[in-house]
Amino acid sequence: MSETLAFPRSTRVSQMQPSSTLAVVQAALRLRAAGIEIIDLGAGEPDFPTPDHIKRAAHAALQEDFTRYTPASGIKELKEAIIERLAEDYGIDYSPAQVMATAGGKQAIFNAIVTLINPGDEVLIPSPYWVTFPEIVAFAGGQSVFIDTEPTDFQLTVDSLEAHLTPRAKLLILNSPCNPTGRTIPPERFRQLVEKAVEHGLYVMSDECYREFVYPPMKPFCAGQLPPELRSRVLIVGTLSKTYAMTGWRLGYALGPEPWITEMIKVQSHSTSNPNSITQKAAIAALRGPQEPLIGMLEEYERRRDFLIPALNDIPGVSCLWPEGAFYAFPDIRGVLERSSLNSSIEVQRRLLEEYHVAVTAGAAFGSDGHLRISYANSLEALEKGVERLRAFVERLS
Ligand code: GLU
Repeated sequence: MSETLAFPRSTRVSQMQPSSTLAVVQAALRLRAAGIEIIDLGAGEPDFPTPDHIKRAAHAALQEDFTRYTPASGIKELKEAIIERLAEDYGIDYSPAQVMATAGGKQAIFNAIVTLINPGDEVLIPSPYWVTFPEIVAFAGGQSVFIDTEPTDFQLTVDSLEAHLTPRAKLLILNSPCNPTGRTIPPERFRQLVEKAVEHGLYVMSDECYREFVYPPMKPFCAGQLPPELRSRVLIVGTLSKTYAMTGWRLGYALGPEPWITEMIKVQSHSTSNPNSITQKAAIAALRGPQEPLIGMLEEYERRRDFLIPALNDIPGVSCLWPEGAFYAFPDIRGVLERSSLNSSIEVQRRLLEEYHVAVTAGAAFGSDGHLRISYANSLEALEKGVERLRAFVERLS
């Protein structure tokens, strides 16, 4: 028996799959290390550098020996900076006890789910969904209930939410703009969905990691703008990873009901303790400093989207809806699969990488095997090459 099989891993972990999105990143890195030129449209990671003023704040923190433990939930100044940013951008008000900083948005989501979900509790997740949601729900012993949004162009409707509510449902996860579809929930619909969930006694986690990345005419919306009776049941998760091109720094946050945040801090105090102290200082500079770099990034993403979507729709057997936010295209490739001997998006992902050196993520990872996720957080030039190679791949199949 191999050593791996002999390891008596826990039941909960044996059910867990490694992150498919991070696996694509690793696969692309491995090929690059072997000297192969890869067009990386897999990673959901800005290709822009972290702005200079943020890097300078990190240097200053090191110079000042700001290298010790901080409170597990982050330093007071950072919590204030998070609160101020949201107050300025959305006119909303939170108290420091309702805020915590985390090592990336993912840790906030992990803390949120494990503090709320008991074995047997149901978590409603609109599908397609970000890979990590169901994994954490399963880790907590909960049951993911997927609500298929494809029939309504990847927009969750109040009717379909209602149809999936049971007495065991405890949490609804909303993710707008959505990773992987780019679909963005209009504010009025968002309110109706939360209202329905709250009416049935649910809590809501609003994953807003892509909140700032919405394209005109849509405007960013934060769940903190909901009326107080709804807001009191909603936890907001955010990250600096995408907004300020800081993926490797690991800084996320959660805002929400104080009792929920208090429990989340407890969990964090026994896992990672505080987010990196130097990153916290850099995050303050990001949140309080000039916001222009974000505007520049958004304009660039919009230009790329405007190239990518028509180019994808031009490939026979591929059809792609127009994303209103985030930086992902989620083309339907069933027309390609039907005309070929390929069985799944996972096979398409593998062959595109191995034979055409293009990294994309299989839709299967997001609960939708007939699709691919293509990240346009890469240069226009890379996107052009990537689409060209995808077209060549498809044409060779037919
Ligand atoms: N969230 C990004 C993605 O979906 C980064 C990888 C991850 O954390 O899943 O690609």
